[in-house]
Amino acid sequence: MDSKDYKNVWVFIETAHGEVRNVGLELLNQGRVLADANYEKLIAIVIGKQLDAAAKTVTAYGADEVIVVEGEEYTDYNTDGYTNVMVRLVEKYKPSVILIGATNNGRDLGPRVSCRLATGLTADCTGLEINEETGDVAWTRPAFGGNLMATILCSASRPQIGTVRTGVFKKTQPDFSRTAAIIREEIRTPSEEIRTKIIGFIKAAGETAVNLEEAEIIVSGGRGLGKPENFACIKELAEVLEATVGASRAAVDAGWISPLHQVGQTGKTVGPKIYIACGISGAIQHLAGMSSSDIIVAINKDSDAPIFGVADYGIVGDLFEVVPVLIEEIRKI
Ligand code: FAD
Repeated sequence: MDSKDYKNVWVFIETAHGEVRNVGLELLNQGRVLADANYEKLIAIVIGKQLDAAAKTVTAYGADEVIVVEGEEYTDYNTDGYTNVMVRLVEKYKPSVILIGATNNGRDLGPRVSCRLATGLTADCTGLEINEETGDVAWTRPAFGGNLMATILCSASRPQIGTVRTGVFKKTQPDFSRTAAIIREEIRTPSEEIRTKIIGFIKAAGETAVNLEEAEIIVSGGRGLGKPENFACIKELAEVLEATVGASRAAVDAGWISPLHQVGQTGKTVGPKIYIACGISGAIQHLAGMSSSDIIVAINKDSDAPIFGVADYGIVGDLFEVVPVLIEEIRKI
């Protein structure tokens, strides 16, 4: 392998029923940084069916080129079809870096593609930059249960592939006047090679519907709530704000709320417009999952709580007094 044969940064764009998911747009933004620093062009890879709108979206979010592969067999994500397409494209175009969202689908796709290509994969990354000495991508990910952050280089093989958590990077402002070359590739996967069949979708309901990564507003509760019933006030504040409920690990470990709500190093990484932390001290592992939020509001009765170090707005007070007042005032708007 001669790494000089490999160039450009690819971002695998995940779509759901034709709509581009946020994580691909976030990765285009950081992909641009990598491409400009060391890897020439930024290229979006879109696989599916009826992808014209998706191609326009990724162009607006900064792709220099879009490679589009359409086919009936790619209507919904499936492991065999998408892996086949990715591997064939890589063999033809030789990208140096491939960024994939660490979603359920991305976590399925990334390892299979890297295995077929006999290259490395860094899974579940929370940071990406260029290693100044080697020019490789330096991938950062939590290791040993989140007790340390590992920085990994994939120097010996190409492409360098990684899955990256949602919410780690921000989307750029779209510019719908941008244009990009659209390259259409005809790659088919015979039906007998696709070993799974999707027979239908059941919309997630209740607890399983928690979508912290794409939430615009999150209201989170911590150990300061004292007992599980007190999550009711967090849920009520979330309801009036049309927000999603988050939690610290302390609240999750106490069994007050499902782990699906956990924000932090071993939970979800989030980047909402507004993050409201109630009764959360701001331990480093919690901050690792939410400090890239646009606006952070902290409610804590301890004025020395570390959460105030990252908060844009801090309320020093008892959450059981503050939260009901907030709910009442917001209801008036
Ligand atoms: P505490 O630290 O106990 O803070 C409670 C806060 O509530 C205090 O600041 C207190 O002043 C305030 N308070 C109490 N009563 C009130 C009241 N009535 N009104 C207002 N404020 C009040 N943590 C995570 O959150 N996410 C993770 O993903 C995560 N991963 C971890 C991974 C590892 C390997 C380790 C070792 C730890 C991890 N942790 C994680 C745990 C983390 O270190 C903290 O223990 C945890 O975040 C603390 O949660 P907390 O802020 O709710 O509780």
